[in-house]
This record gives sequence, structure tokens and C-alpha cells, in this order.
Amino acid sequence: MYILKPLPYDFAALEPYIDEKTVRIHHDGHQATYVKNLNEAVASYPDLEAQSPEDLLINLEDIPADIKTKIRNNAGGVVNHELYWEVMAPNHEDVLPLPTGKLAAAIDKVFDSFTAFQERFSKVATSHFGSGYAWLVNTAEGIMITETANQDSPLTLGHTPIIGLDVWEHAYYLKYQNKRTDYVKNWWYLVNWAQAEKNYQEALSKES
Ligand code: MN
Repeated sequence: MYILKPLPYDFAALEPYIDEKTVRIHHDGHQATYVKNLNEAVASYPDLEAQSPEDLLINLEDIPADIKTKIRNNAGGVVNHELYWEVMAPNHEDVLPLPTGKLAAAIDKVFDSFTAFQERFSKVATSHFGSGYAWLVNTAEGIMITETANQDSPLTLGHTPIIGLDVWEHAYYLKYQNKRTDYVKNWWYLVNWAQAEKNYQEALSKES
């Protein structure tokens, strides 16, 4: 039985960048529905039910055809949202948080500067067509910016997500309406770089 992972902070904690009502509906409505649908999808497959949602996505090609799309969408919906919340943190100082440690060094090496990275990531997130996510992932070739449609997971491609930004309209529409660019711009104030560094170091240990 998969469960709805509680938020690591209060519904209002991401104000003023993401409003309380959006966070509440996003977590208790949208994310909860993915959990419910994932449980329904695996109900007749005890061997699948024993796997973590991450493992279901990594091994998506082995999932029986009749439930593969349901697993792809709903295990993706669970895992992607858990990461989305985890890589944000409250910010009440109006100061842009910056990456540290090994991840900061990798970003400088691959993208030349944090600002250059931020611009490229923002462009991917802003211009992504329809629903989906922008990611910074680790791969066998190092870190890169990617995007996925709907609830597709980088894990299925063999990539390990370090940070991820949900650009579904449900993530921002109540506060930002059609202005996804403003949502993306404000999201940078919430990025939890300490968690991102942890995700990166775990990804590196998997690659070695
Ligand atoms: Mn979402």
C-alpha cells in the first residue's frame, strides 16, 4: 500500500512564492489522486506492490502491458511530486539561495556559471509545451538539464533527478494564471540546495 507522503513543511510555508491554497490542493488533491490510482493499478499484482514507486519507474519496461500506462502516470505522479516538494524550502528573507558543495562546482563546470545554468533551466521550464517538468538530473555523462512530459520520470531514462520543477498548470494557476514565467522566476527563491546537494552526492555514489 502506497501512502501520501506528508509535506516537509506547512501548506503556507512556501508563501509568498507559492500560495497556501495551491499547495493544499496540489498535495491533498492532485498528489493524493496519484497515490490512490497507483494503489488501484497494482492491486492485482502483489509482486509489483512490493516494489517502491521508484523501482516501478526504473523497471517500467517489465510492467505488464495492461497496467503499464497507469504505472507510468501514477508512480510518476507520486515520485515526481515527492521530489518537487523535497527540493523546496521556505524562504522568508527575499534572498536568492545558491547551490553549494560538489553540486555548485559541477554547475559551474558544466554551465560556466550559476546564472547561465539558471537561465537555461528557466527557459526549458517556461517553454515546455503542455504539462510536465524541468529537471536537473545526473547521468553517466554528468549533470544535465532535461524535461519530461506529463508525469514521465527521469528514472525511466536512467537519470537521477537532483531538482525538479512541476510546470503543470495545477502547480501555479491559482496565483499566476497564464504567467508561468513569473512562477518559474519565483520558484528559484524556494530551491532547497542542501537537499539538492544530498541528491547529487547520492546520485554520484550510484554511478561509481
Ligand atoms: Mn503537480
